Amino acid sequence: MATVSRTPSGATHEVVNQVPPLEGHDAFEANRPLSEALEREGGGWARERASALGTWAGTAEARRWAAEANEHPPVLQTHDRYGNRVDEVEFHPAWHELLGRAVAHEIHSLPWTSGEPGAHTARAALMMLFPEAGVGCPISMTYAAVPALRATPDIAEEWVPRLTSATYDRRFIPAPEKDGALCGMAMTEKQGGSDVRANTTAAQPTNRFAVGADGGGAGAEYELTGHKWFCSAPMCDLFLVLAQADGGLSCFALPRFTPDGERNAFHLQRLKDKLGNRSNASSEVEFRGAWARMVGEEGRGVPTIIEMVNHTRLDCVIGTAAIMRFAVEQATWHTSHRAAFGKTLIDQPLMTNVLADLCLESEAATLAAMRLARAYDNPDDDRAETLFKRLATAVIKYWVCKRGPAVTGEALECLGGNGYVEASGMPRLYREAPLSSIWEGSGNVIALDVLRALSSSPESLDAFFAEVELAAGADPRLDAHVAAVRDEFTRPEGLETRARRIVEGLALALQGSLVVRHSPPAVADAFCAARLDGDAGLAFGTLPAGVDTRAIVERHRVAA
Ligand SMILES: Cc1cc2nc3c(=O)[nH]c(=O)nc-3n(C[C@H](O)[C@H](O)[C@H](O)COP(=O)(O)OP(=O)(O)OC[C@H]3O[C@@H](n4cnc5c(N)ncnc54)[C@H](O)[C@@H]3O)c2cc1C
Repeated sequence: MATVSRTPSGATHEVVNQVPPLEGHDAFEANRPLSEALEREGGGWARERASALGTWAGTAEARRWAAEANEHPPVLQTHDRYGNRVDEVEFHPAWHELLGRAVAHEIHSLPWTSGEPGAHTARAALMMLFPEAGVGCPISMTYAAVPALRATPDIAEEWVPRLTSATYDRRFIPAPEKDGALCGMAMTEKQGGSDVRANTTAAQPTNRFAVGADGGGAGAEYELTGHKWFCSAPMCDLFLVLAQADGGLSCFALPRFTPDGERNAFHLQRLKDKLGNRSNASSEVEFRGAWARMVGEEGRGVPTIIEMVNHTRLDCVIGTAAIMRFAVEQATWHTSHRAAFGKTLIDQPLMTNVLADLCLESEAATLAAMRLARAYDNPDDDRAETLFKRLATAVIKYWVCKRGPAVTGEALECLGGNGYVEASGMPRLYREAPLSSIWEGSGNVIALDVLRALSSSPESLDAFFAEVELAAGADPRLDAHVAAVRDEFTRPEGLETRARRIVEGLALALQGSLVVRHSPPAVADAFCAARLDGDAGLAFGTLPAGVDTRAIVERHRVAA
């Protein structure tokens, strides 16, 4: 029988060339594009807050909670042991810890409570530092619900103070008895998610609790009957729901408990078994005469809820930029501590090229997210900024979310086989990455939304290009790209078929303008060469010779 050779101590081998865990750093200060953007875009007053969150995000505890919340997915309890309907979801304690942290840091509320200018920008930075994406779902929906609820002041008066409380109260009890509340949304039905006009959930006026006007309309009571095929974070206290009233598709505020403290007829059918986002529950739900109040005008459900959707679209961008940054952090860290063929990986020219290309994508996404967040800070009477926000939200949502899965896939490979193993955290990022591109408008739907924005307010294109052209003359490759994108609009034929191409061109123009104005020369030069001038291949790691790949990687790397 063969014997295994052992060292005198009995060990089979010495563990060497393995990478230490990345922890104990301030994830905010280490993220130079983000910390610079926070200052530049008007949220500099939140620097200490960001640093406090970044320091916690860099701890082993934060990483452990994030992993545990995903390893122990939520469990649906439709009934109690006696057969009574309860419609509750049980979460692992790590989920509650994370959600509590996010609420305590006011990621769900800062712009509505702080009174500081630049609060959307400050919040964007906080959101980008949060180390777990599933929690981002109820946090984002709660943040985004506030402007939609304001369409009906007495509903807003009742709910906004609860939704903006900095206390997370995990108890499943009526909202008036709680210290804080969270809000979700339910639009998608089996027969259609993108096309919400196909919704069949029906709303009938009622006066069960004598709240609001009799007979229907804004603020009035209704009973909803129907279903929703996707309803995430179902343990939220309130939901904005689309349903058909007599006057057409309308928006409703549907609480989990009725005003008399009873459980509303909001019946959870099933939880989705999802690719990623596994810490968070996404449910299928039926309404059996569920009590709700109309938000906004009857028949104006889409324009009312779009206020919420625009803010969650902003968060899709922020969330994806966050995922890219986590991926880049891990890839640059791993390759700084791992050697192959006698040399540290990060110093091997081809690996440096791959890393630099990933850093470039992450920086462009961060800059775009933070500039977009600033557009949400500007007052509504700033017409140019309002037009910019309308177009840029869709353009950037499309492009940044499309790039997320590619970045996480390549970053994972930088860790070799270790990156494919759950303990590295990379598979979780990889599975999460496609979600933002589906949610709140899938790629095609967003690209078509850009065309819609351009046709309903052609001035939005002028506002968009006015921002892009702040960098005019700074780099001829950017100027040529902008001219080519402008040229796309001179040919009206086949616009719908070309929609993705046009939106991609617009997004790259904006990102190019931002990096040329705000990033170090090495980053700006590489971006213009590889993304605007076509001097790169299709895969990451194909930056042209002459690009200062080392300088780019050094800027993004967490120092050892
Ligand atoms: C994890 C997760 C959580 C979710 N949570 C919620 C939630 O909380 N609340 C909620 O309401 N919804 C939620 N959704 C649903 C999500 O918003 C929808 O899945 C999404 O809007 C797409 O709708 P759909 O699935 O019906 O796809 P469809 O509308 O059938 O679209 C399928 C594909 O066709 C494309 N397409 C559609 N129209 C066109 C067109 N005119 N031209 C070309 N292509 C087109 C789309 O881009 C998409 O790629 C969630 C989804 C996921 C995956």
